[in-house]
Order: sequence, then C-alpha cells, then structure tokens
Amino acid sequence: MNIVEVRNLTKRYPRADNKRETFEAVAGISLSIAQGEIFGLLGPNGAGKTTTLEMIEGLTDIDGGEVLIAGLDVQKEPYKVKQQIGVQLQANEYLDKLSLHELLSLFTALYGRNTPPETLLGKVNLLDKAQARPNRLSGGQKQRFSIACALVNEPKVLFLDEPTTGLDPQAKRNLWDLVQELNAGGMTIVLTTHNMEEAEFLCDRLAIMDHGKVIAAGTPEQLIHQYARDVPPVPRHGNLEDVFLHLTGSALRE
Ligand code: ADP
Repeated sequence: MNIVEVRNLTKRYPRADNKRETFEAVAGISLSIAQGEIFGLLGPNGAGKTTTLEMIEGLTDIDGGEVLIAGLDVQKEPYKVKQQIGVQLQANEYLDKLSLHELLSLFTALYGRNTPPETLLGKVNLLDKAQARPNRLSGGQKQRFSIACALVNEPKVLFLDEPTTGLDPQAKRNLWDLVQELNAGGMTIVLTTHNMEEAEFLCDRLAIMDHGKVIAAGTPEQLIHQYARDVPPVPRHGNLEDVFLHLTGSALRE
C-alpha cells in the first residue's frame, strides 16, 4: 500500500525579480511512497524540496494537485493527517527554560497522548540528558531531540528535512542508525538531504528534483546504473553524486 500519494502537486510563488508575476516552485510533481520505505528527496537548493514537503505535511497551502496520506486527503482532512505524521523541521527553537523531559511532557499533553518522556528520550538515546536544557545539547543531540518531539504522536510517517546537515561524522552516523531503527519498527520515513552518501546508505528509493520537477526516480542502484557517467565495468557504476551532477548539471550549492 502507498502511504503517501502525491498527484500533480503545484505551488506558485511571486517571482523574486517581479512580484506581479509568479513562477512554479513546484511544477506538477507526482510521487508514490510505500508503507515502510525510506524515501529521499534530493535536488539542488531552490529545486522545490522544502515546498513539496511542506505541502505534503499540510504546512503550506497547495495550489494544484492533491496529497493523500494513509488514504486521507491533506486538504480535506488536515487534522486527521496531522495525527498520522511527525515532522522534524530544518531548524528548531525550543523554550530554553524547560528541560527535555518537561518539553516532551508539554508536547505529549498538547497532542493528548500519554507516552512517557522517558520512552521518547530512550528511542533517540538521550535518556541521560532528560534534565538538560535544549541549549546545552550538541548539534547531533539537538537533531535527535527534535526527532523525539516529532515522535510524540506515534506517527506512521516521519518527515525529516536535512536531518544531518552540519553534523560531524559520528553524530551523522548515530542519526542514520536512529532512522534505520525507527524504520525497522515499521515507520515510513521521508527525508531531504544534500548528502549523497546518506541518500545511498539510507534510502530505499529516491526522487531527484530540479526546477520544481521530479527529473528522475528509482532505487539508488537503478539511478546509478542509468545515469552515472565514467562507470567502471565492475562491480559498481559510479555513485549517487555522479547521478546528481549529471542530472542537475551543477555542483552542490550550499
Ligand atoms: P529547496 O528546498 O529545494 O531548496 P524550496 O522549496 O525552499 O527549495 O524553494 C523553491 C523555490 O521557491 C525557490 O526559488 C525559493 O526561492 C522559492 N520560495 C520558497 N519559499 C518561498 C516563499 N515563501 N515565497 C516566495 N518564494 C519562495
């Protein structure tokens, strides 16, 4: 079963150079994400990844097309959809007067759930930081805490927007382990990343976006086989970075 169905999704924004005209930041994209997949959305800055995610999550209005999550239409049943999903945003700011334990108690209460904060902290390996304030956490710990917050409502689908950007290799590796553990428990994960190694390591399938469109989709193996240039005959054929550069024609833009 496809837990996320995106059909012909479109978003128009005013042009930066002429506000009276609009352009399609997301230009009619379709995606099907199966239950239990780790699905990656790749593309250069400005490709439309965040806008796409935000429309799927119900955080940004949809101009055209539709999104179904667990069979629910995001535009018609936004509150029911919000019960099915967890969202980790790129940058999170928390009330720094509260401890991780207190913040999770607060979010759990707001969602009308009763998962103990210890359970959530245990899942993201932060039990020993229960009494710490968020501003005392390292970059990797902050990311894991924001995932704990996204798990408060026991989501079926977890959305992660660039979860490892700025993390050191060890923290990145810890986060990959966490994503795999959550996925092994049956959770569908949708993530954006600029890190091709991450996409290849974590994702069952990928869609590569550029200029608001999906320009290629498939498993990492399929994409590498189809698009990577300068391929040695055996055993591997280039890597996902080759696919990315071949398709978007540009180096990674930070
Ligand atoms: P990505 O996540 O792939 O970097 P975004 O979805 O953030 O891309 O942006 C896609 C395009 O839409 C970019 O050209 C960006 O400048 C533009 N855009 C994003 N949000 C807004 C907004 N709120 N108003 C106007 N333009 C926007």
